[in-house]
Amino acid sequence: MTEKLITIHYNEIALKGANRPEFEGHLVRNIKIALRSETYEKIGRKEARLLVVLNEKSDEISILGKLKHIFGIHWFALAITCKPDMEEIKQIVSKGAEKYIGKTIKVDAKRSDKSFPLKSMEINKDVGAVLYNSGFKIDVNNPQVMIRIEIMRNQANIIFERIGGLGGLPVGSAGKVLCLLSGGIDSPVAAWLMAKRGCIVDFIHVHPFAKNEQVKESKMPKLSGAISLYTQTEPKLFVLPHDSFYKKTFGLNTRSELVLFRRFILKVANELAKKHGYLGIVTGDNLAQVASQTLENMLTTNEASELPVYRPVLTYDKDEIINLARKIGTYELSIQEYRDCCSLVAQKHPSTKTKLDEVKEIETKIEIKKVIEEAMTEIQEI
Ligand code: ATP
Ligand code: MG
Repeated sequence: MTEKLITIHYNEIALKGANRPEFEGHLVRNIKIALRSETYEKIGRKEARLLVVLNEKSDEISILGKLKHIFGIHWFALAITCKPDMEEIKQIVSKGAEKYIGKTIKVDAKRSDKSFPLKSMEINKDVGAVLYNSGFKIDVNNPQVMIRIEIMRNQANIIFERIGGLGGLPVGSAGKVLCLLSGGIDSPVAAWLMAKRGCIVDFIHVHPFAKNEQVKESKMPKLSGAISLYTQTEPKLFVLPHDSFYKKTFGLNTRSELVLFRRFILKVANELAKKHGYLGIVTGDNLAQVASQTLENMLTTNEASELPVYRPVLTYDKDEIINLARKIGTYELSIQEYRDCCSLVAQKHPSTKTKLDEVKEIETKIEIKKVIEEAMTEIQEI
């Protein structure tokens, strides 16, 4: 009896050795969440791949569409499955190939069950000959269509079209980080890149409004929420007004203001990390893009953080970041007008080479410890 299924392949997870079941577990959980409103028979693991067994009520197109957004998947495909029997396989291939008449075809067999009597090359030849004799064009070097036959224990899968996955590692397999989110283009992309490597990413945003209530109405929750398409779960968004910081620095007229502000956010983020178990901080810093992002200023900024600060878009060109933002779907939100804190109060000529001792001296003067304590009482998860 034949049935339809979706076969899901990973590459990096396959290299994980003894940790593989754990990585697979994260992937299975994420797929189940992504497919929670879909109908299917079951999801199983077998011979270094996952199999989603479909039934007659399954919406294949919708399920395939959702798998495109899950990290840790190298490729996936709709497959017809049958007994590992050459006659059945040939029948299914011949029938399925009909819609590719006129195109060049290659048969590509893979055996994970080595006890199957024919070797992969022999399967290719046998099935290829059947197609050739029925008038199909075969081209083993540069085919337009690749028909893949997977020989497994007790089953064979026949695949006509492979779909590329997002790659990366399943979200949840690497631990939790906290991303400093601004209203711009770079930080959502930075968060997405960390999620791609398996991180759960939550956000903190320092907003220019008087009350946290007001930021709820802004684009910021939409921006942090946009990433949930790829993480399968809604991230946390911590918000606090910039007032606790700016009422202390207002009028200081220092060229280190931007760096002081970054250090303030980092210190708050580190406090949050202690409470919530984040293992690192993420920013959308991009080397030399603006004054606060020189090596000198990132050095002075970093000193405020006990946790490592990760900057996944540090070396990207702006157009590379924009292209990625478009691809992941955050660009349109990012360019919507928003009164970001830095644009409000930043000094006209910020220093590109702040000195740590000068910055620390100002922090002592404004009693930064108290500022952080106050900020921690104002912070809210929305
Ligand atoms: P982005 O496009 O992400 O806004 P940017 O080029 O505007 O970046 P900056 O404004 O210098 O760069 O900010 C650098 C990084 O500092 C941001 O990517 C973000 O991680 C963090 N950041 C900036 N402003 C805020 C804020 N108001 N709240 C939280 N984090 C912020
Ligand atoms: Mg910004």
